[in-house]
Amino acid sequence: MGACFDYTTFAASDEKTLKERFSDHQESLRIDNGSHAYAGHMGIAQGLTIHNKVFQNENEAIDYLEQNAQKWSSAIAVKVGDFKKCFPSTQTEKNELEKLNTLKATIDNWGKELIARAKSAKSEFRGCKKCGSKIATKFIKEHYCPVCSSHEFIETETDKKKYLNVTQKYKEQSAKVKKMEEKYKDINKKNKWVVGAWCAS
Ligand SMILES: [Zn+2]
Repeated sequence: MGACFDYTTFAASDEKTLKERFSDHQESLRIDNGSHAYAGHMGIAQGLTIHNKVFQNENEAIDYLEQNAQKWSSAIAVKVGDFKKCFPSTQTEKNELEKLNTLKATIDNWGKELIARAKSAKSEFRGCKKCGSKIATKFIKEHYCPVCSSHEFIETETDKKKYLNVTQKYKEQSAKVKKMEEKYKDINKKNKWVVGAWCAS
């Protein structure tokens, strides 16, 4: 069993934004390439540590990361270039980004929230409208029916409408934030986060 060094770059941003983006990146890597302990990609690194270092170019940053990152540990992020003017910088931009993150959290936690609500209900059993199965409330683990997989199990019509509404808002807010960030692209052409990790393989 060996290890391989994996690195990637992210647009210059504040640390909070970097952490969110890195976590999304890890999730998609795990979906595409597996999440076992020797998967050999950055998706299995134990979170992200930001080192207070600024390099002049990407190669110097990669050298540093190769020497300082460790197998079975977190990925490390360092800066390349000048981050003085990067997104989000104004209060408005920060607020709009926060709105986007809140919408994303609502979407990410949707199933969990439905399950929590179902479990807190007084009735001992929950019936599935589609297949007629009765499930003990305290054993509900998914938001769809464990027997027939119907999503009309603990999710109501109102919930569905709400979900559509939230996803629509998320799309719009994403576009808005993307446009705001666009302004910073030129000025940050050479500035970026470089993130590296040694990954067991
Ligand atoms: Zn069912």
